[in-house]
Amino acid sequence: MNVAFKQPPTSTRTLDSIAEALLLPSGIDGVYARTATFERVVNGLTDLISEYREPSTEVLRFPPVMSRRQVEKSGYLKSFPHFLGCVSCLSGEEHQIRTAVDRHEAGQDWTGALAPADLVLSPAACYPVYPLAASRGQIPAEGLIFDVACDCFRREPSKMLDRLQSFRMREYVCIGTPVQIDAFRRRWMKLAESFADRLGLSWRIDHASDPFFGRGGKLMAVSQVEQELKFELLIPVHSAEQPTACMSFNYHRDHFGSTWNIRTASGEVAHTGCVAFGIDRLALALFATHGLDLPQWPASLRKALTI
Ligand code: AMP
Ligand code: ZN
Repeated sequence: MNVAFKQPPTSTRTLDSIAEALLLPSGIDGVYARTATFERVVNGLTDLISEYREPSTEVLRFPPVMSRRQVEKSGYLKSFPHFLGCVSCLSGEEHQIRTAVDRHEAGQDWTGALAPADLVLSPAACYPVYPLAASRGQIPAEGLIFDVACDCFRREPSKMLDRLQSFRMREYVCIGTPVQIDAFRRRWMKLAESFADRLGLSWRIDHASDPFFGRGGKLMAVSQVEQELKFELLIPVHSAEQPTACMSFNYHRDHFGSTWNIRTASGEVAHTGCVAFGIDRLALALFATHGLDLPQWPASLRKALTI
């Protein structure tokens, strides 16, 4: 674990000055249209992350919505109810739907007619993988690794370009014994160092906690740090004092294993861990560090990203 950044953030530019070439406003804080320039870098990053995929990893790409029941069962409402976005729709007979539409056309509020659907907006890419793995029976002795991704939603509106409501997350997820998860996470914390170096980013890795809800959440956060369950790769996108978490390395212990009754080859409750890449934040960190002019980026970086 590093306590200082690897190199000073020499060329960090104010993000607002580069925003209009990258992220166009939608009228809602934290929701942007991404420009072609931004997406070129996102695609390069996505391919580069795939280069790090370990053998026998199963690739799954999830849609931006998932089962509400699965998120409820995973304990998300206990820990992060303030982040969750639930899909709600007009339903019922044609005349009931028509009444709601008429209210809108008459300039009145129509949203009272909405009813919650069986879907939520996915808050993280790894949630759907645990019930899926559980449905297949015991985990093989060597453990399982998944490569997952989806567009995520978290209700944390902000004017900061690195705090989005809708953002993309890529994850490698490991399911197996505690020893396998520990080795996976250690391996990835090492790999992340060389990944960030290849990107020419200034970084440090530090203990972290999740923004759990409410007063009780503070205690959970303290315990998470004490137990070293979460680390983050921090990049000084705005400043070294308030760096941006661009990757996280998480150990869930037996939380998902017990919830979904995932068993190892020897019948124990499986442990799980994940390493998450915040794709939009990593792309933003690259622009903040290297500027807007892609041809001027270091040759080794352009090669790594094939841009
Ligand atoms: P977490 O599950 O909170 O560890 O999130 C995984 C990664 O997703 C983080 O390390 C960030 O890079 C990214 N991320 C989380 N929240 C946001 C957000 N509001 N806007 C953009 N990226 C985010
Ligand atoms: Zn995860």
